[in-house]
Amino acid sequence: MDTQVLIVGAGPVGLTLALDLGRRGIRCALVEQKNEPAFLPKMERVNARTMEIYRRMGLAEKIRAAGLRRDIPMDVFVVLDLVHPPLLRLAYPSVAEAEADIRATIDGSVPLEPYQLISQYTLEPLLKRECEKLPAVTKRWSTQFLSCEQDPAGVSTTVRNPDGSTRVIRSQYLVGCDGGGSPVRHALGIKLRGEPNSKQC
Ligand SMILES: Cc1cc2nc3c(=O)[nH]c(=O)nc-3n(C[C@H](O)[C@H](O)[C@H](O)COP(=O)(O)OP(=O)(O)OC[C@H]3O[C@@H](n4cnc5c(N)ncnc54)[C@H](O)[C@@H]3O)c2cc1C
Repeated sequence: MDTQVLIVGAGPVGLTLALDLGRRGIRCALVEQKNEPAFLPKMERVNARTMEIYRRMGLAEKIRAAGLRRDIPMDVFVVLDLVHPPLLRLAYPSVAEAEADIRATIDGSVPLEPYQLISQYTLEPLLKRECEKLPAVTKRWSTQFLSCEQDPAGVSTTVRNPDGSTRVIRSQYLVGCDGGGSPVRHALGIKLRGEPNSKQC
């Protein structure tokens, strides 16, 4: 076996999985087709449940330090432009206010951590740096998943290397963390609800 777990995709999900497995000493290899985290307008808000996972991993405070300041409210404005008054203002508490609410609530009805505003293009490099500290995690950037074949002992995955050549990586498990369009999902014939001729959920 080249690795125990092969993770395809180094977005927030793949990086978080690699961190979790790597910290447990489980050997994993992360393959990502991009050469580095991209500067794209994608996720902005890490929700409470995910922040609870980062808390368990000892990362919650690092993520908060890199994200929106604790004291800034999370109000949402519905606007037609930036000149006229908003059509609607939805009030949401700041992280500091939400933390105070959590401290004052002892009936289990609120999450342990509030949400956090942090852009994906800030979060991904942060998680990548944390992954780089873990000897159990191997990173292969500019490496594209092409296909996979499963047998009783594991999975053989063909990837395209940065120089255009291909290689087969042998692993016990293959995990598709390769986003909504997921080539791994397609390779396994798993459909999404809403796709043409889909009968699965
Ligand atoms: C405008 C916008 C706003 C959003 N706001 C939020 C928000 O506020 N909060 C929130 O939770 N979510 C938000 N989302 C959704 C969020 O972006 C996704 O939930 C998140 O990116 C999912 O993370 P992921 O790691 O599963 O997938 P992705 O971030 O899509 O990462 C998948 C990775 O797999 C790689 N990959 C794909 N194919 C291959 C291949 N063949 N070989 C190797 N690597 C491959 C890709 O390059 C990519 O790096 C938003 C999305 C958009 C577009």
